[in-house]
Amino acid sequence: MQITFYGVRGSIASPGPTTIKYGGNTSCVHVRTRSGMNLILDAGTGIRKLGMRLARHSEPLLLLLSHGHWDHIQGYPFFGPIYQKDREIVVCQGVEGNDGPLRALLEQMDGLSFPVRAGALPSTMTVINEVADYPSQQSFGFRRRTLNHPGGGYAYYIEEDGVSIVYITDNELNPPGEITTSYAEWVDFCRGVDLMIHDAQYDESDMPAKHGWGHSLISQVRQLAVDAQVKNLVMYHHDPERTDSELDEIAIESARFFKSKNSPIGSFIAAEGLTIDLKARKDAKVSTVDLHARTP
Ligand SMILES: [Zn+2]
Ligand SMILES: [Zn+2]
Repeated sequence: MQITFYGVRGSIASPGPTTIKYGGNTSCVHVRTRSGMNLILDAGTGIRKLGMRLARHSEPLLLLLSHGHWDHIQGYPFFGPIYQKDREIVVCQGVEGNDGPLRALLEQMDGLSFPVRAGALPSTMTVINEVADYPSQQSFGFRRRTLNHPGGGYAYYIEEDGVSIVYITDNELNPPGEITTSYAEWVDFCRGVDLMIHDAQYDESDMPAKHGWGHSLISQVRQLAVDAQVKNLVMYHHDPERTDSELDEIAIESARFFKSKNSPIGSFIAAEGLTIDLKARKDAKVSTVDLHARTP
C-alpha cells in the first residue's frame, strides 16, 4: 500500500513563503492498494495535482470524503479525471441517506460558483453506500467511525494484506459537547495500525478559544498514538497559520515526546509529496519526496 500526501492544510489553502516546505494545499491523500485501486481521501485543493497523475491511466478511482467542508471538496472542480469521457468516478457516500458531503461536492459546480455544471461533466459518477458495494473491490478491508466535528463526518480504516491505516481528519478527541466517538473508541479503532493519519491542527495556545471547533491538539494526537500502539503517526490538517519553522519545531518536540515514553512510534509531519510505502506488517518503509522538486 502506498500513501502519498497531496494536500495537508486545514480550513483554507495557505500558499506563501512560510508554507513552502510542508505545502499550502488543503486535504487530499492518495492511497494506492497493491491490487491497483486508487483511493482518494478528500478532495481539497491538493486533488488538482493528484488528478494530473491519475488522468494518465485508467485504473479505478474511489473517492472517500470525510465530510463536506470547503477544505475537503474545493479541489474537485479542478480534478482532471472528471473531464475525461468514459471515466468512472466512484464515490462512497457512507450511511444511506447521508448525501450532505456529496451534495457539497457537486453543488459547488452550479454555473455560478464554478463555470462548469456538475451535470455537464463527460465522466460518470457512481455513488455507493459501502465500499463493499463496489463490484471490483474484493481486496481490502474497510471500516468507518463518526467524527467529533461540527456537522459530523467519517474516519476511515483501510486494510490490505495485513497492512492497515486509519485516516482521521477534522476530529476533536476531547470535544466540549456531545461525543459521537469516545477516546476509548478511538484507541480501539486505531489499535496497532501501521499508520495513523490524524488531525493535529491546534496547539495549547489555540485553547480554550477553539475548544469545540472540531480539531485536536497535537499533544492529544501523540498520546492517542501511544495509547493505541500505532506503528507510525502522521500529523495532518495543519492550521493555515502554522509556519514551516513551527512545524519543524513540532517534529522535534514529537521525537522528544516518543523518546521520553520509550515508544518506537515513527512520527511524521504531513507534507505535500510525503510518500509512505507500507510493504508488510511491521515493515514500514518511509520516504519523503519534495513535490516542489519532483511530481509524484
Ligand atoms: Zn478540514
Ligand atoms: Zn471540517
